[in-house]
Amino acid sequence: MDWKEELTGLVFPRRCPICDDIVRPRGELICPECRSAISFVREPCCKKCGKALDDPGREYCGDCLRHTRSFEAGISLLNYEGPAADSIARIKYHNKREYLDFYADEAVKRCGRRITEIRPDVLIPVPVHPARLRKRGFNQAEILADRLGKRLEIPVETKLLRRNRKTVPNKNLTPRERLKNLTAAFSADPVLAEAMRRDGVRRILIVDDIYTTGATVEACCRVLHHAGFEKAWFFTIGIGHGT
Ligand SMILES: [Zn+2]
Ligand SMILES: [Zn+2]
Repeated sequence: MDWKEELTGLVFPRRCPICDDIVRPRGELICPECRSAISFVREPCCKKCGKALDDPGREYCGDCLRHTRSFEAGISLLNYEGPAADSIARIKYHNKREYLDFYADEAVKRCGRRITEIRPDVLIPVPVHPARLRKRGFNQAEILADRLGKRLEIPVETKLLRRNRKTVPNKNLTPRERLKNLTAAFSADPVLAEAMRRDGVRRILIVDDIYTTGATVEACCRVLHHAGFEKAWFFTIGIGHGT
């Protein structure tokens, strides 16, 4: 730690992403004992979305068998459950963006090699609606993409995808309704898309905080396909368990 980090650490002690207490020892991003509360994604996984599966004999999760997937494959850091799921929710709803330092760091360590093997030309964070962005003050997906992009030396493009209007809350909708609702909510800037294609951008990695039913990523992929980008993958911090 240099003196600036030392001073910042004294004035704003780092909070643990799991218990939200001050992390000890200083300089760490998570309490050593809280690390064991996180369940990282391990094989066997769905070959498409990367969700952890209980049955090693299965290749795909139920969701990927039932629904069209426009993405090539997905990589996620941890199972979206228990204290880690609460932690990811606190990033958004309680302004705990500092937790992203831990998640980005861990993502590079555990998933960095697989991400670079995809050879993405660009990282694209899932955008949030401008009104929501103003209220929250940040887009967690964008912060995550920035951190990953810097560490893995992949450019980040935040202007291509746009969120057009506030969507109806997805909670009570069927998967089909969710997808329809969401696809209408995203669009791609056609001028920028053309410029990017001219620059040789072919492979896109979509970045978001969580993947549950896959509707958001699917919607983004469809919009990207429509804009002329055929190959997309995704990375998220958390992913639901496969059923
Ligand atoms: Zn802790
Ligand atoms: Zn799947």
